Amino acid sequence: MNILVVGGAGYIGSHIVKQLTDSNHKVIVLDNLQTGHAEAVTKPATFIKGNVKDKALLRELFSKTSFDVVFHFAANSSVEESMEDPLLYFDNNVSGLIALLEVMNEFAVKTIIFSSTAAVYGDTSEEIITEDTETTPKNPYGESKRMMEKIIQWCHTAYDIKYVVLRYFNVAGADLAGVIGEDHHPETHLIPIVLEVPLGKRNFITIFGDDYDTKDGTTVRDYVHVVDLATAHLLAMDYLLAGNDSTIFNVGSSTGFSTLEIIQSVEKYTQQKIPVKYGSRREGDPHSLIASSKKIKEVLGWEPLYTDLDSIIDSAWKWHTSHPNGYKNEQ
Ligand code: UDP
Repeated sequence: MNILVVGGAGYIGSHIVKQLTDSNHKVIVLDNLQTGHAEAVTKPATFIKGNVKDKALLRELFSKTSFDVVFHFAANSSVEESMEDPLLYFDNNVSGLIALLEVMNEFAVKTIIFSSTAAVYGDTSEEIITEDTETTPKNPYGESKRMMEKIIQWCHTAYDIKYVVLRYFNVAGADLAGVIGEDHHPETHLIPIVLEVPLGKRNFITIFGDDYDTKDGTTVRDYVHVVDLATAHLLAMDYLLAGNDSTIFNVGSSTGFSTLEIIQSVEKYTQQKIPVKYGSRREGDPHSLIASSKKIKEVLGWEPLYTDLDSIIDSAWKWHTSHPNGYKNEQ
């Protein structure tokens, strides 16, 4: 298959690119390197630097290669930043998608796998979230992703664009070969931040809020291994190409860990004490997000292999200890 991966130099996109090329697909990555790294695009994928909003560039790419499928990962994805600058999120995320869909349509490329998020659900009273749970995003990031989902769904109705939307819960870990991993500047995600303490880069962790209505008062999230997430994308592609109906799937582990439990697990794994301070709640944070992954397991036959927290921490730890500066200084 000829596959365009928009945002394929980022943390999640690069893991999908690797699995696609390992499965002998021909992959072209378009990424503006705003948060991604050219070094994260593993060979033999082709890397092209550019913005998804650049329709002239998209047209050039689509006229040179007849793509079978488009994967779309390029988006701003920080909850905190989105609360401070919502227009940035609506502009980059939503208008980037519109440009991509326009050009896909012009070139009659009708298949898209879209990277969405559990942030579309917001605060819900449902303990386990299914794809039918009401979406009430609590921050502009989640709202922008929900808008993008809806745009894709209307393009399905109007232009017969076929889609799978994957709503990721909290993605963590790194490729097991240790070649690619997570490298954000600044890092805002919990697991890599906690690892910075035993790595000697940070002295303590601030827990954002201890008065949530959860088991220990700290926020609860569902952590899924990035390698298992990548597998879900390949299954989603095969599903669409086999002529199945467009749909939405949650991708999570169906287990909730509190922020405190994550810190304790890293302490146990690294055998190092991680000092904790309690701060105020981070604006826009839902109290608990736990997936039901029943649908993706039943429909796509997705079977996550790395479901215990230790295997996530282990792969992330190996990546960070072997790449103390992330991709910096790499050839
Ligand atoms: N968190 C925290 N301290 C940190 C980073 C994150 O307490 O330094 C909490 C955050 O409030 C959230 C959870 O950890 O409830 C997971 O945060 P992350 O940014 O990794 O993912 P999110 O669920 O926001 O997408």
